[in-house]
Amino acid sequence: MALEHDATVAARQRHKELCEEIEDHRYRYYVLDAPVVSDGEYDALESELRELEAQYPDLRTPDSPTQKVGGAITTDFAPAAHLTRMMSLDNVFSAAELDEWAARVMRDVGAEAGSDAGSDFGSDFGPAWLCELKIDGLAINLTYENGRLVRAATRGDGRVGEDVTANVRSIHGIPDRLVESAEFPVPPVVEVRGEVFFPSALFAELNASLVASGKAPFANARNAAAGSLRQKDPRVTASRPLRMTVHGIGSHEGLNIERQSQAYEVLKSWGLPTSTHHRVVSSVADVQAFVAYQGQHRHDVEHEIDGIVIKVDSLAVQSMLGSTSRAPRWAIAYKYPPEEVTTKLLDIRVGVGRTGRVTPYGHMQPVRVAGSVVEMATLHNQEEVVRKGVLIGDTVVLRKAGDVIPEIVGPVAELRDGSERAFVMPAVCPECGSPLGAQKEGDVDLRCPNAQSCPAQLRERLSYLASRAVLDIENLGAQSAAALLESGALVDEARLFALGEADLMKSEFFTRVLKDGTVVLNANAVKMLESLEAAKHRNLWRYLCALSIRHVGPTAAQALAREFRSMDAIRAASVEELSSVEGVGSVIAGSLVDWLTVNWHRNIVDSWAAAGVVLEDAVVEAGPQTLAGLTVVITGSLDGFTRDSAAEAVTSRGGKCASSVSKNTDFVVIGENAGSKAAKAEQLGRPILDLAGFLVLLSEGPVAAAAVAR
Ligand code: NAD
Repeated sequence: MALEHDATVAARQRHKELCEEIEDHRYRYYVLDAPVVSDGEYDALESELRELEAQYPDLRTPDSPTQKVGGAITTDFAPAAHLTRMMSLDNVFSAAELDEWAARVMRDVGAEAGSDAGSDFGSDFGPAWLCELKIDGLAINLTYENGRLVRAATRGDGRVGEDVTANVRSIHGIPDRLVESAEFPVPPVVEVRGEVFFPSALFAELNASLVASGKAPFANARNAAAGSLRQKDPRVTASRPLRMTVHGIGSHEGLNIERQSQAYEVLKSWGLPTSTHHRVVSSVADVQAFVAYQGQHRHDVEHEIDGIVIKVDSLAVQSMLGSTSRAPRWAIAYKYPPEEVTTKLLDIRVGVGRTGRVTPYGHMQPVRVAGSVVEMATLHNQEEVVRKGVLIGDTVVLRKAGDVIPEIVGPVAELRDGSERAFVMPAVCPECGSPLGAQKEGDVDLRCPNAQSCPAQLRERLSYLASRAVLDIENLGAQSAAALLESGALVDEARLFALGEADLMKSEFFTRVLKDGTVVLNANAVKMLESLEAAKHRNLWRYLCALSIRHVGPTAAQALAREFRSMDAIRAASVEELSSVEGVGSVIAGSLVDWLTVNWHRNIVDSWAAAGVVLEDAVVEAGPQTLAGLTVVITGSLDGFTRDSAAEAVTSRGGKCASSVSKNTDFVVIGENAGSKAAKAEQLGRPILDLAGFLVLLSEGPVAAAAVAR
């Protein structure tokens, strides 16, 4: 008994804390437009509160945040009462929870899943579900009287919001006067609900301009929308590129409609901005498919979305279901996993890249976001640090959208305590101590000029040239590069192909000690030497890339190799000759010629040649063009071919090699360890060849190959 009592006391205490905390966050979010926690963190607090109340129902009083529409109003704006209440939405966070919600709705309506071939609710109600994007903006209620916009109000507590009419009038796309429609006349009074948002693409620009004028930046696009709309001076709102999408009708006496989706048709015909992304579907399975599809395409729309809203389409069913005190029972928000979190920016450090570019990056308290733990995020250059307005020690909003590289969005300025400090770009290279400078006037980027021996640049250049995309040298990565430099085996890349056993024996990184005390090369080192040997016979363009010459990337390198065929010919060519090659402009040609004037650069090329690197492409006699007009995709490894030689076998016969499978692909050649392209080929039903089939294609042509394809 005593134990039970203790538990209740503890629950009551926690409930009180959670309510206070949630109300505080709501105030910061809805009134100040300056939240201090991410939506994910906030949602976790609400979930905890809901669970606690489920366990202790006595705690669920009408003034609990779980029972109220979140929001408050300030005295900055006049109060504006809504004719019909504005609601919030209940949430689900998984496919299973969505199924449960839909089953509950169907049970409440007395329908059984799949009871009718046409719809989950039976034929009387037509297709059941309306799926929409959940726009991450702020809710606005527009009141039109006799077709004229007379009031625009924020949601507030759902009954009374803030009058923001003057500000809303400046938003592009919101009509002052509705267009009359013969079929659906505009009622004398109608309330239109929708979301005001800040287009994602323009958000960074807004923050930069705020920082430049000494103001605090917004934490994300949603806050930018709310903050821009709730301005005392409507001229400020007018200067911000806000947009609105409408997604509901409030009071609408005299308007005879039967479905929510029909309401959107009507709103559109009146000249209001509706979404083009909604779909009406018949089954829960189709709803799930919509949720999954939009989750994959979350960033293809012009505004942020934080989920999908699923509504019962029939207004008759909607009114059968009714609402709770805070949300309709006929709609639900499926929330996607959060892509934004807050974390502490512990430091801003700089890294030195392959071309000497010095890049500041944020070092943060490790945090999990969108499926991975993030600790570092690039800040690009010192101007970007200033544009974002972040200080060392700030709590920052960190964003990782799916597979995209993590990005520091901006600071949570409200949490500053004065101990934060501005980042100062170092004047000297953190690795070699050389004074940093811009390569030419007006460059934002600073560079370390010590290209030959700055360890950071060398490490990066060596890892790059060893990468699969360039020379594909196994076991030569950042760590082995560092070991080679530290032991003195290399001082730049000149001796790379001359490296031998004796060189590697100098470093513990490449050796191991046998039981009898003898030191021998370890397996990694042996593999690296073998791989270096193999890398002496690659195509010329790969060596051009491997030299890390500014502006000379794979496309330019391939064009140069195709034209000149040998390094000697390239060295002998003038800027004019080089720049006349298609795909090689004067910038690339100039950069290449400049590079070649430097002694230690020329020494690299000479030393590689002396070590046996073949710096020329064999002349392939153009044979009969048996594959002219065909597109071939090669994936996986094929015995007897390198990636380059397999491609060349196709191109020398007049065919084209493409990197991705499409319906225009004539043949897909699948070797060992082929990845997703094999599946794509199957999916698109393109002819698939194995190694034997590929050989048939090369020797006998497409007709014979088609006969052996599957
Ligand atoms: P909500 O944002 O989860 O959902 C309700 C709102 O969704 C509606 O009012 C409506 O304006 C909007 N909406 C967007 N697209 C819609 C569409 N197609 N159809 C219908 N409605 C659509 O609920 P809420 O009560 O406004 O806010 C709660 C959420 O706000 C939390 O889950 C949290 O993510 C965020 N929040 C964050 C903090 C914080 O401190 N970070 C504080 C409070 C609230």
